[in-house]
Amino acid sequence: MSAPDLFDTHAHLHFPDFADDLDAVLERARKAGVRRMVSVGTNVETSRQAIGLAVREPDVWATAGVHPHDAAEADEEDLTEIERLASVESVVAIGEIGLDFFRDLSPRDAQARVFRRLLGVARGAGKPVVVHCRDAHDEVLAILAEERVQDVGGIMHCFSGDVDAARRCLDLGLHLSLAGPVTYKNARALPEVARFTPADRLVVETDCPYLPPEGHRGRRNEPALIAITAACVAALRGEPLERFAARATENAVRLLGL
Ligand SMILES: [Zn+2]
Ligand SMILES: [Zn+2]
Repeated sequence: MSAPDLFDTHAHLHFPDFADDLDAVLERARKAGVRRMVSVGTNVETSRQAIGLAVREPDVWATAGVHPHDAAEADEEDLTEIERLASVESVVAIGEIGLDFFRDLSPRDAQARVFRRLLGVARGAGKPVVVHCRDAHDEVLAILAEERVQDVGGIMHCFSGDVDAARRCLDLGLHLSLAGPVTYKNARALPEVARFTPADRLVVETDCPYLPPEGHRGRRNEPALIAITAACVAALRGEPLERFAARATENAVRLLGL
């Protein structure tokens, strides 16, 4: 059987964690069947770095955004710069943006202000969003609805909610992305979410260097390991890996306009 056609829709390849051996990391990803990767920005500086990488590597694309952790630091100049970066050709989405009430590294009103502003930027650019949400599903969903996310679509990255939260995201037209935690013994509602989500709305990601799948925990994650998460989700859905991977890739390619 041929290698699965995998798409890592959320990686941070431009982070210093990969500075010493990025070429080897990309080589291992390609060997594992990962034909496309998105390197996700978290502030102005890392968005620029992601774009630099996307310009260099033919199978890497970028996003531009301000992570909720970085929201307090983002001034008007930064948000204007993200707006400018949003129109760069290799930028396929605006993100990651959202709310994180788990770690609360920025004040909640600053998180909400930046989130709303960059949802507006996404609408202006006509590009989808990559949404980060931790312990804030009600608030994130309310803002996404008010800011008409349906106009551009997007991905709830590293989805961590239950089936009810999944249903509400799907009702807003969003795609759900499953990451390493679906493979954990304590995966909570995620196996159920993997089975519940319609085939045309599901994608997968590593969120590397974070969240390595089972068997690799405590170490640096990398795009090649998306194969483990994809195999786990395919098994949960009772589908052959090749078919699941092909469809997840097709979903991401369509949403991101590659
Ligand atoms: Zn995130
Ligand atoms: Zn991330």
